[in-house]
Amino acid sequence: MIDSPHYIEVALPLPLRRSFTYQYDLSEPAVLGARVRVPFGQRQLVGIITQLNVAAPSTFEAKSVLAQLDTTAVWKAELWQLLNWASDYYQHSLGDVFANALPILLRQGKPIGYAPVTYYELAQDAPSASDTALDRAPKQKQLLGLLRQGRVSAAQLKQAQISTTVSSAACDKGWVRRIEERPELNAEQHWQMALSEEPLAVNQEQAVALSAIKQISGHASFLLEGVTGSGKTEVYLQAIEHVLAAGRQVLVLVPEIGLTMQTIKRFRQRFDVPVEVLHSNLNDTERLHAWLNSRSNRAGIVIGTRSAIFTPFADLGMIVVDEEHDLSYKQQDGFRYHARDIAIKRAQLLDIPIILGSATPALETLNNAVNQRFHWLQLTQRAGVAESVEHELIDLKGLPMQAGLSEPLLQQIEQELSKHNQVLLFLNRRGFAPALMCHECGWIAQCKRCDAYYTLHQAQRRLHCHHCDSQRPVPKQCEQCGSTHLISHGVGTEQLEDFLNQRFPEHSVLRIDRDSTRRKGELDAHLKSASEHKHHILVGTQMLAKGHHFPNVTLVALLDVDGALYSADFRAPERLAQLFTQVSGRAGRAHKRGRVVLQTHHPEHDLVQDLLNNGYQHFALTALAERQATALPPFKHWALVRAESTDKAQVVEALNHMAACLPEVAGVMGVGPIPALMEKRAGRYRYQWILQTTSRKQRYQVVKYLLSQWENLSILNRIRWSLDIDPQDF
Ligand code: ADP
Ligand code: ZN
Ligand code: ZN
Repeated sequence: MIDSPHYIEVALPLPLRRSFTYQYDLSEPAVLGARVRVPFGQRQLVGIITQLNVAAPSTFEAKSVLAQLDTTAVWKAELWQLLNWASDYYQHSLGDVFANALPILLRQGKPIGYAPVTYYELAQDAPSASDTALDRAPKQKQLLGLLRQGRVSAAQLKQAQISTTVSSAACDKGWVRRIEERPELNAEQHWQMALSEEPLAVNQEQAVALSAIKQISGHASFLLEGVTGSGKTEVYLQAIEHVLAAGRQVLVLVPEIGLTMQTIKRFRQRFDVPVEVLHSNLNDTERLHAWLNSRSNRAGIVIGTRSAIFTPFADLGMIVVDEEHDLSYKQQDGFRYHARDIAIKRAQLLDIPIILGSATPALETLNNAVNQRFHWLQLTQRAGVAESVEHELIDLKGLPMQAGLSEPLLQQIEQELSKHNQVLLFLNRRGFAPALMCHECGWIAQCKRCDAYYTLHQAQRRLHCHHCDSQRPVPKQCEQCGSTHLISHGVGTEQLEDFLNQRFPEHSVLRIDRDSTRRKGELDAHLKSASEHKHHILVGTQMLAKGHHFPNVTLVALLDVDGALYSADFRAPERLAQLFTQVSGRAGRAHKRGRVVLQTHHPEHDLVQDLLNNGYQHFALTALAERQATALPPFKHWALVRAESTDKAQVVEALNHMAACLPEVAGVMGVGPIPALMEKRAGRYRYQWILQTTSRKQRYQVVKYLLSQWENLSILNRIRWSLDIDPQDF
């Protein structure tokens, strides 16, 4: 029995980078890693015990823990270690990292266990299969047909698109019985791996890749680089087979479930093992069950997006990250982690292999392959059949333009529409910084001090260098040819959509971007109607480039190549190259021959030419050498401070104070404050400060020191600010 008071440390889901001391006087022993409910101000919070038996606080009286919610730790040592590492690496609140890793019901303090699951089974009075009474009730017939093969859960009925009205009616008639059951949490339930179809006979390159992967028993990172259709998925499947056969589980990360349904179907078709798919349509209970199924070894394969990296496993044997370059792996708010990078760490901690697959690897990943930290496996040939795709450059100089579309492109669109083909127009707003350009000769306003392009801040009518912070008013004339026809790239998807509706009133336009697919199921519905050819013109951002396949698209155009070539975001060319390569891969997959058109004022630009003539890898290696020469990531390690406030002077002053805390250390540099690419949003001024260091370790130490100094800056209480380690956009 506990006599003297006993204190513990608890991590709480708050932005504060510290834990909190509580008194523990409950009768059951406190468990490291268990959830507790504690009072916090006027609220109650659910936190995790991070330390037992700490000293009594000397300056305040600790409050008491209200309840301990678990009898054992929530996570096994492996995930516990990973989450602690992530909190440390990203210098983010441990309690918030924990919250990100938990299903919402557990965050709220619900017990770790299954909720009752509803099943349906056939009752004695059910009509027989040959009963003609059912002919006029096709849904009832379908339901009874399913149940004749055995009992079916409510979730499975939903998947088979049988509504609860149908099942309830069948229950009322006495044909079907409804049963509630609560799966036992600790029952050992091991699946057996069985193939439900024969693997394909692999080609030479696939064989080389597979033998490299199978050869290694412990940890190794593989970059599987191969164009779309080169057979990467087949390599995943056969590599996974090997792991499943050994009785171990597999985690597959994908950028977006809605865009990868085809791939998921192939996993289900190949293996007769339970597959959990963590998609956004799951409700909170289903999400908790998927988490439990993986943890209790009821699932052999787990497929999910970014946050699936935190899924607990009984025995994880391999991780696959498909489309590893994809930006959606980076969380852009709160806990700003990169799921690919955490996946690599997890594979290291577990001593298991990880496969990163892409047609267009991120430069960071490619650099690791070049340095031989990763095994570099390449698939250069297309495995399936595919038509090649035609490329065309439209030189925009002096051409009439409407809503970002040149006249020659408009004519091509018209032609394809008249042949009942679909047209796909890409406009990338991500990382997009408008430059000021002469429409006659292509001259771009450039900072004299930096060899970088000015970013146009339209509202203030001024040019701003995001590298050295110098500013000047917008010139009236081109400095090269004297023309007054100076333009910015500023067309957004909505504006483009409006114009297309007016110009092609008899054709339907569909816009697919983050804004038009925010609601549940919206993306799926859009993709479905697009592939059914209900719309003739599709307008999209990068998210539309991955995974999906529209057989009737014959013309794909990248409208804003210049925006990427001359962006203040140094990653913009890489993103453009990825987009180009991906859409080219898709267009060439169609049954109809496809064409990819690029609009630019600079058709002679090295990057454009390199990409068209030599392909992504050549471009990427050149870009990597350039990053090295100009000391950019991945050769430097960045941390970004974002700050915002309705008061512009205040936000700039706050960042200046923060910057002034930077110690003089060789190889460490601070840049800014500089305005964000979108300087003002929703009435708030947004500024940033960039820390650049020569090593991760150095960044870690400097950031740690800075955070301790910033705690004393009272001005920070008057603005909003956040820290981003390895920032991906600006
Ligand atoms: P990726 O994942 O690189 O886009 P996939 O694995 O989806 O490529 O392969 C593209 C197409 O080629 C698929 O239809 C697949 O079934 C087929 N395929 C892959 N590998 C082989 C092979 N070794 N032999 C025959 N067809 C293959
Ligand atoms: Zn400059
Ligand atoms: Zn000019």
